[in-house]
Amino acid sequence: MKLTMPKDVKNLCEQCAALCCRYFAFEIDKPRTKRDFDDLRWYLLHEDCIIFVEDGDWYVQINRPCKALRSDNRCGIYETRPAICRAYSTKGCDYHGDEYDYEQLFVEAEQIAEYAKQYLSKQRKRKAARRKTATTTVRKTSRARKTTGKVTNAPRLLKSA
Ligand code: SF4
Ligand code: SF4
Repeated sequence: MKLTMPKDVKNLCEQCAALCCRYFAFEIDKPRTKRDFDDLRWYLLHEDCIIFVEDGDWYVQINRPCKALRSDNRCGIYETRPAICRAYSTKGCDYHGDEYDYEQLFVEAEQIAEYAKQYLSKQRKRKAARRKTATTTVRKTSRARKTTGKVTNAPRLLKSA
């Protein structure tokens, strides 16, 4: 639901409790393997972490306030605030924008584990169906080409000892 500001409010951030300064989020590779999902499960085992999907893109969000946020909800380093803060405007922001339109929202580790179970089971079935089709094609033509799978170089999550 879109919120409307009272007419006498000049600064659009005036009545907001600095919602955009209370988390940070970053895009991650779409999980595809059992290990990928297990890494995401590990993220979600941590406090204040959520994972969401929007427009097919996957994000990790940490719901912790910025250390530069003052108790009056103003930025303590306004003149030198990072570029991402400078680029962010009240247009469609966390306070003035519409409701979030999540395709998926994972808050608990069990949710991603359940999603992974279903996703990986579907993938296995698809692969089995493809293999069946490929075998049929080989039998028909005897000229099936051998190909590798897609190669990715996604960085692996490192956990310090
Ligand atoms: S930009 Fe939006 S979310 Fe951020 S402080 Fe201003 S009104 Fe709040
Ligand atoms: S640097 Fe300032 S504007 Fe940016 S998130 Fe922190 S408090 Fe908010």
